Amino acid sequence: MMGASTAKLLLAALVLGCVTGCPPSDKRIVRTLPPPAYPPLRQTPQTPPPSPPPKPVSTNLSGKRVMIDPGHGGKDPGAWKGTRSRLPEKAIVLDIGNNVGRILQSRGAKVYATRTTDVYPSLDARAKAADRYKVDLFVSIHADSAPKNPAASGVEVHIQKNTRGKSLEAARCILAAVKKAGIEVRGWQSTNLHVLREHSRPAVLIECGFLTNHGDATKLNDSAYRARLAAAIADGITDYFSQH
Ligand SMILES: [Zn+2]
Repeated sequence: MMGASTAKLLLAALVLGCVTGCPPSDKRIVRTLPPPAYPPLRQTPQTPPPSPPPKPVSTNLSGKRVMIDPGHGGKDPGAWKGTRSRLPEKAIVLDIGNNVGRILQSRGAKVYATRTTDVYPSLDARAKAADRYKVDLFVSIHADSAPKNPAASGVEVHIQKNTRGKSLEAARCILAAVKKAGIEVRGWQSTNLHVLREHSRPAVLIECGFLTNHGDATKLNDSAYRARLAAAIADGITDYFSQH
């Protein structure tokens, strides 16, 4: 706020400027006069004050051990024939898995993978690796297909049947992060699956969308979308580890 004396000084300077230079008819001077030196009426703010920034979630994952398991591979393409997808499931989930692994590694986690190339480890080898490396979370990555229901779409997370605890917590964190990224989620399901059942570690299996659904298949064939989904999955895993 400008004081009354400052305002007078400024006015004097402007008048002086007029005398020494600009033509007297110049109306611009009037428009440059300072505002009156009294406090303005208190106005109701038009927009609410900005809310405080959200509490930062710790992204330091040092000491956490994660195993990424991109489904299928090699001789096993996964879902492909009869779907709307140009790429086979094995290629889509490998790309997503490698991205998730890289992000978690950059945040300090010790990341293992059942495969990082186009090879096929057996289901048993994948499950046994979870125990061998005593991982804090096993994350299997797949894409779904429902030939009889082409309308089915969205991301779904499976945990082993009759399991709750940490696996369910991880599933919820991943689904919340995926939803927050603006990606459709279906929810979680408990299912009897070899790679979730045959070891003792907390584990989730993410179905990244339906290759039989036109919209999901189009998105999953796009590398930018896969990177976005991978980042959301990594954020969900990071959220989970910030609580466990
Ligand atoms: Zn699969």
